Amino acid sequence: MSPRRRFLRTLRPEDYENPSPIYCVWEITLACDLGCKHCGSRAGKARPNELSTRECLDVVDQLASIGVRETTLIGGEAYLREDWTEIAAALVERGIACSVVTGARNLTQERIDAAARAGVSSISISIDGLRKTHDALRGPRGSWDAAVDAARRVAASPIRLAANTQINRLSMPELPALADLMVELGVAGWQVQLTVPMGRAADRPDLLLQPSDLLELFPLLLWIKRTKLAPRDIDLAPGNNIGYFSPFDRLLRWRSEEKGNHWNGCSAGKWTLGLEADGKIKGCPSLPSHLYTGGNIRDAQIADVIKNAPELIHIEERTRQDLWGYCKSCYYADVCKAGCTWTAHTLLGKAGNNPYCIYRALDFESRGLQERIRPREKAPGEPFDFGRYDLVVEPISTAKETPKILDLAMDRVTSASFTDPSLWEEEEINARLGRWTQK
Ligand code: SF4
Ligand code: SF4
Repeated sequence: MSPRRRFLRTLRPEDYENPSPIYCVWEITLACDLGCKHCGSRAGKARPNELSTRECLDVVDQLASIGVRETTLIGGEAYLREDWTEIAAALVERGIACSVVTGARNLTQERIDAAARAGVSSISISIDGLRKTHDALRGPRGSWDAAVDAARRVAASPIRLAANTQINRLSMPELPALADLMVELGVAGWQVQLTVPMGRAADRPDLLLQPSDLLELFPLLLWIKRTKLAPRDIDLAPGNNIGYFSPFDRLLRWRSEEKGNHWNGCSAGKWTLGLEADGKIKGCPSLPSHLYTGGNIRDAQIADVIKNAPELIHIEERTRQDLWGYCKSCYYADVCKAGCTWTAHTLLGKAGNNPYCIYRALDFESRGLQERIRPREKAPGEPFDFGRYDLVVEPISTAKETPKILDLAMDRVTSASFTDPSLWEEEEINARLGRWTQK
């Protein structure tokens, strides 16, 4: 198994006292060798005016000077830049841990060796389902085989192997089998996140989960974590758009299930930074560029932008008064602030109200209701663009034939015997997911 991660992204007491980005996600090129149907940046061709090597090395100096501890290189496909390992080595030299997220279609042994020489500490490979599903989502046939093959080679290298998966209507039923694959590959960590309607995913409403699907997703993920991953010391890392509160947040999101851990709100601009290949500076790489860019490397210093650009600091300064819809009156609003800004904004056209929330789904369910998203406007077709969805509240339509999934799940969450796999057999999971896919 790959070496365990040093948790540089874990917040320290001083990070709360003086918040500043400690983690940067840096798109170094938009060139890509895949054509993913859920790609938020609609990657493929390099941006017309991407930063030169010299400009990138200056960015590295700036990241070091503001105290960034870890940077993840992404694309497009980061390895399609000839100088990607030079950038990685410069980060490591300045004391910044460098990780890479990749679709790995052409992550050759030479590239893995070069990354290891540069000091890359972690490579996270995107695997979005079993072979057929992954290839359907990621574009070229053979993408899954290439990704799995690359994962085996990274596992055999000095670099820590991680994986990441988008959860959507195609991949969710395959999560238990994917967990088995993670065990077999020997990943050290597995990040899962919801597919969000941005970029090409905005063109595919059929892929998206419904908010009420979280009622099945959370128990499923918890079951996977406890029975398949934790016994093998594999970290399950739910992405920032899978949330929030309820008993599940603490049990699922944190490595330790101690009481007191909870979601702390969107960290864009506060502890997180996003850079685009042409120099745009955002609080989070996923946020829509035209609304959340606070400056450009070519005419601004990162230190100034994080302190002064309204596009970054308004997220941190958001209060309950800036929220709307259900979130505005939510018990957790002052801390949560409507969860992931990116998810809420691209779904409903405005941040501050987020139906992808387990606490909220549970509340609606307790009143015999559920929320459903319904596409209203299409996205224009630009990188990081989005359309618009309406939010419908309706009676739980399948109440008669759907078993009390939640009751069952909560029983098991609170039961000491939850970890007994015989209580929740594969067949039962499959039967539940079978019903779910027919909704
Ligand atoms: S309803 Fe909104 S504010 Fe409340 S926990 Fe969920 S996302 Fe956060
Ligand atoms: S917008 Fe979402 S993904 Fe980005 S920092 Fe905020 S919570 Fe995280």
